Amino acid sequence: MTNTDTADAVGTAIQVKELAQAGSELVRITVNTPEAAQAVPYLRDQLDRMGVDVPLIGDFHYNGHKLLSDFPDCAQALSKYRINPGNVGKGDKRDRQFGQMIEIAMRWNKPVRIGVNWGSLDQELLAVMMDQNSRRPEPWDAKPVMYEALIESAVGSAQRAVEMGMNPAQVMLSCKVSGVRDLIAVYRELAQRCEYPLHLGLTEAGMGTKGTVASTAALAVLLQEGIGDTIRVSLTPAPGEARSQEVVIASEILQALGLRTFVPSVTACPGCGRTTSTTFQELTKQIDDFLRAQMPVWRKSYPGVENLKVAVMGCIVNGPGESKHADIGISLPGTGEAPAAPVFIDGEKRMTLRGDSIAADFQSVVEHYIQQRFGQGAAPISG
Ligand code: SF4
Repeated sequence: MTNTDTADAVGTAIQVKELAQAGSELVRITVNTPEAAQAVPYLRDQLDRMGVDVPLIGDFHYNGHKLLSDFPDCAQALSKYRINPGNVGKGDKRDRQFGQMIEIAMRWNKPVRIGVNWGSLDQELLAVMMDQNSRRPEPWDAKPVMYEALIESAVGSAQRAVEMGMNPAQVMLSCKVSGVRDLIAVYRELAQRCEYPLHLGLTEAGMGTKGTVASTAALAVLLQEGIGDTIRVSLTPAPGEARSQEVVIASEILQALGLRTFVPSVTACPGCGRTTSTTFQELTKQIDDFLRAQMPVWRKSYPGVENLKVAVMGCIVNGPGESKHADIGISLPGTGEAPAAPVFIDGEKRMTLRGDSIAADFQSVVEHYIQQRFGQGAAPISG
């Protein structure tokens, strides 16, 4: 999801492009004001002109019914609408305004994501469910009631949309919470209760390592159980950190679980007392950065390159063995070893790199390998 002001169509287009290049296949944008809604068709045009065809999802709260009615070009330019049933209106306005958004979605043949969030749960529904619970012979704890309210808000809203004539195949649900165990419990139950596709995400996961680990822990469990059709990692970026970091982590989760491949994988040892210089760390980083940076172009020029496996190892102990398991691997000299780095290609030692330019030379070897293996008219690879 972008964090630019959507009214700034150019700035938003630049960030959407960055997210798409990092691997995002759907990008959500905030649509919160008339200015933002007005900018959406220009944003779509801008992206199309840049050759970025990633679908845009409009994120609506409070005034979505009005913005989608008042700005039909916005409604048309978006590929999906995210509707938060906790934020569509209160009292009798709630069903009317929700219905208005569903009608507009049907008019433009757009799917919707009914996205419930722990932080903006429909308070009227929660109050009713808490009240019902208090009248049970043995009332539940507050937490399971909260889970029920989240699920009921999502499934009940989806049901209302379907009753209005919406195709169930165009309805997706999410029930985001910020606790790992809570998220797992809610989604396990949600998956049992409905057939709608589910969007997963740990909301307000936090920053850096904490946010990354918490998101991974929650999503990995659910994805391994076959729950989830789209995912998002919600990270608070550190000042100056690229917004696309959350896309990198989301794609790494899918790749680590063997569900999708997005970029060539780099196997690297952690280093130890046998790697006392920083050469090994620098080379691993350079190769990883290089592979990632090339992917927007390589994805088109070298189909299948994302399945490539590269190994960068720190010494002779596991270096040659691990390098042989990769498509292309290098075993760097550990402390006290001869200053030579054997390179293995398709399981065989093909060359030995020496000197100060090992990193640049290995990068060239990798690039050559990719051209030969994944480019048009592949030729045999020689050392
Ligand atoms: S491969 Fe060598 S440098 Fe890397 S962790 Fe193992 S022993 Fe240490």
